[in-house]
Amino acid sequence: MESHLEHRDRVGVQDAVLLEDYTNERAFIENLQKRFKENVIYTYIGPVLISINPYKELNIYGPADVKAYENKHFFEVPPHVFAITDTAYRSLREENREQCILISGESGSGKTEASKKVIQYIAEVTERKGDIETVRDKLLVCNPVLEAFGNAKTNRNDNSSRFGKFMDIQFNFEGSPVGGNILNYLLEKSRVISQAPGERNFHIFYQLLEGAEEHLLDQLQLKRDLNSYYYLSNGRKSQHANLEDSTSFKEVERALTTLEFSETEKEDMFHIVSAILHLGNVGFTEEDGRAVIVKSELVDDIARLFKCDSEKLRLSLTQRTIETIRDVVTTPLDRELAIYARDALAKAVYDRLFTWLVKRINSSLQPNDIRRNSVIGILDIYGFEIFDRNSFEQLCINFCNEKLQQLFIELTLKSEQEEYEKEGIQWEQISYFDNTIICDLIEAKHRGLIAFMDEECLRPGDPTDLTLLAKLDDNLSYHEHYISHKKADAKLQKVMGRDEFMLIHYAGAVTYNVKSFIEKNNDLLFRDLREAMCSSSNNIIQSVFPESELRSKKRPDTAITQFKNSLNNLMNILKDKEPSYIRCIKPNLNKSPAVFDEEIVRHQITYLGLMENLRVRRAGFAYRRPYDLFLKRYKSLCKDTWPHYPGSAKDGVQHLVCQLGYESCEYQMGKTKLFIRHPQTLFRTEDAFQLK
Ligand code: ATP
Ligand code: MG
Repeated sequence: MESHLEHRDRVGVQDAVLLEDYTNERAFIENLQKRFKENVIYTYIGPVLISINPYKELNIYGPADVKAYENKHFFEVPPHVFAITDTAYRSLREENREQCILISGESGSGKTEASKKVIQYIAEVTERKGDIETVRDKLLVCNPVLEAFGNAKTNRNDNSSRFGKFMDIQFNFEGSPVGGNILNYLLEKSRVISQAPGERNFHIFYQLLEGAEEHLLDQLQLKRDLNSYYYLSNGRKSQHANLEDSTSFKEVERALTTLEFSETEKEDMFHIVSAILHLGNVGFTEEDGRAVIVKSELVDDIARLFKCDSEKLRLSLTQRTIETIRDVVTTPLDRELAIYARDALAKAVYDRLFTWLVKRINSSLQPNDIRRNSVIGILDIYGFEIFDRNSFEQLCINFCNEKLQQLFIELTLKSEQEEYEKEGIQWEQISYFDNTIICDLIEAKHRGLIAFMDEECLRPGDPTDLTLLAKLDDNLSYHEHYISHKKADAKLQKVMGRDEFMLIHYAGAVTYNVKSFIEKNNDLLFRDLREAMCSSSNNIIQSVFPESELRSKKRPDTAITQFKNSLNNLMNILKDKEPSYIRCIKPNLNKSPAVFDEEIVRHQITYLGLMENLRVRRAGFAYRRPYDLFLKRYKSLCKDTWPHYPGSAKDGVQHLVCQLGYESCEYQMGKTKLFIRHPQTLFRTEDAFQLK
């Protein structure tokens, strides 16, 4: 039989705090690699779960696995997403503490899959009866719907979530799920109008074309030909449909039924999706500087699908009305602006449809009994992004990750501290890198990057991306985490463009290109287009383009300010919950189950701040166990504790560790747990146990 040592050699340690040299990144990576080779994808850093995407189906999520983790102590069973979920669920039920499971990692690392396993586990271990059955079913089918509208094939992930989500599962006092709620963040709406080579639009477009019955397609005036739609092909040959598109459509239809969407609601949704496809095909020519619609009948079809006034829609695509204090001026759009208007409409309608969809799902998940329920929240949100070229979207995403890192530091350090205090353990203050300084650089009132950006975007006159950059450079160059082109050293200047600035994030330096910052942040939809949409009698469009929006004189908040507000709201929600962390890593860039690319993994470890996390965890005690469990395992190592120790478990452990020759500096006795400083001490004990 394989000895304990041999096993550790082959599979590595299941908790990185047990590595001898915890500051050694190579050793940390090697440990993950060993495990990955053995199909062991989960590893801990204390309570934090690291998950490596296996890129193949592993037989570790079946009913027997659920059983194996149900009601087990975290450390009695190997690391698993079920262990994290079970611990959170138990803490919710037994200690009545609200929970959140925060999942992070870059695109394709397995966040969404992990979130589904969390929901699967909860669905399987909770009671199956009446109402609860329906709620469980609904919770399980939210994902296919959200993914149809919010996910797409990208070059990094065939099923990439193009939005962030925070999903609450609400439990009654018996611990049964009774409802849910979803918050959505920043959908990548630009994907509606164009995609990078090799990527696709949102799944729903293909699913509808491939999977809808003939009569629905007829009604929507759609052809089963992807190449007929410019928004899918972008003038190239369209990305092929996937084999699953058709089956997925059936799944979405079933899910909508489970979620109690009415026939009219479904019809309204698909009318909008189809109208957007047609909208992409509206072409313009130009006569005397005025855009002219090439096929006017097409706009009639679209108006019919949108259920809006056809003449209004036609005009809104070719002219723009501006109200000044004195009068109302209508100017024709040239071809370029008409295309801009058309695309802006497509993006806005899709984005608002998505938000409506989330709200509608939420109303279906509302618990019948609105007494105070406890929740487990699951956050599945974009990870840190550093591309060759980074834009407005990356700034938002990386800002979000700064905020989450800040919360992570606050909560993990706080909980370490709390545990030591609760157990009466002496410990020293741990030093760590606090990224508040970077968060402030971005969001501080009146003097942060967002404030200056908004000021420039809302300035009358003619703000441009370059005047915006100049403003940022002027006001922020003093800051050690902001590097302007001027401030950069000669070497950096060579790689940094004049239209770029750099932020030193906690995870590394990122250069942002300011092109389109103003347009993306202002996120304007011409008034004429909004008016056309307000004339719609499609219920969804009516509710997402309310008349009141036209009457309102107040400018809506800029895109980044809205995002900042929703993030701060999220932070407030998360702050008073007990967090669990799942850090996802992808082993290579080729979606291959066999390759572990050390460099690729190293980058992600940096972005996730895992070495810092490990350092903080090890600064205190590597290992801690409740007395009864420690005694139960090792009592055979001493004749006085075997088979029973007559006194309390604590006294038994004290006796045992003395007999085992633990030095007094090596351990501390807490109220309920034994704390061991270095893993080697524990290993010696474990080896002795294994040899016996
Ligand atoms: P994005 O940020 O782009 O949404 P993500 O982190 O949510 O990415 P997932 O969609 O969860 O990534 O995972 C990408 C793919 O990797 C999945 O479609 C699946 O093929 C594979 N995968 C991820 N996790 C697992 C797992 N635990 N077991 C098997 N395959 C997995
Ligand atoms: Mg995802």
